[in-house]
Amino acid sequence: MTIKVVERPKRTFATQIYLIEVWKGLAITFRHLFVNLGRHTLIALGFKGITPGSVTIQYPEDPAVLGKRARTRHRLLKRDDGAPRCTACLLCETICPAKCIRITAENAPDVIVEKRAKTFQIDLGMCVFCGYCVEACPVDAIHMDANDVEIASYSRQDMIWNMPELLGDVKKAPSKIPS
Ligand code: SF4
Ligand code: SF4
Repeated sequence: MTIKVVERPKRTFATQIYLIEVWKGLAITFRHLFVNLGRHTLIALGFKGITPGSVTIQYPEDPAVLGKRARTRHRLLKRDDGAPRCTACLLCETICPAKCIRITAENAPDVIVEKRAKTFQIDLGMCVFCGYCVEACPVDAIHMDANDVEIASYSRQDMIWNMPELLGDVKKAPSKIPS
């Protein structure tokens, strides 16, 4: 195996006084400013074929349009008969790197399914939105496509979503400001 030794860059006097580095940063900022200003002005004047300038999305008044593959809040899916698809195999709980899924299992009345989740909790305050739980599920019972990214709350407890909320049977109660 070849080892490539990378020398640490020398800190010259010019680097250490920071002024040149600060000006370099400002030059980049102003380049973006004038390029965008130029693009917006040319488009406003009716020029065609100009690359559109960047715009600031006025969130939350103007919600951001998420990509089709964006990972958003989890939801649990149901079977055709309305029962949750989850068979409490615990694969998602096991693979979760943030250890934020908690499931308790019970016997299912359907002998083919054998088990089902009695409780299913996800602590979204700890979730890193990696999507491993979705990948691991053998029965396609959990998705991250609720298209909901506004999940902030006033307490850690309110970041925990339970099975009825994840199934969409119950609307999550709004988080209250602690007194
Ligand atoms: S997205 Fe990742 S961190 Fe979040 S619950 Fe699923 S496996 Fe855990
Ligand atoms: S991996 Fe799927 S079936 Fe297994 S416990 Fe998680 S959600 Fe349920």
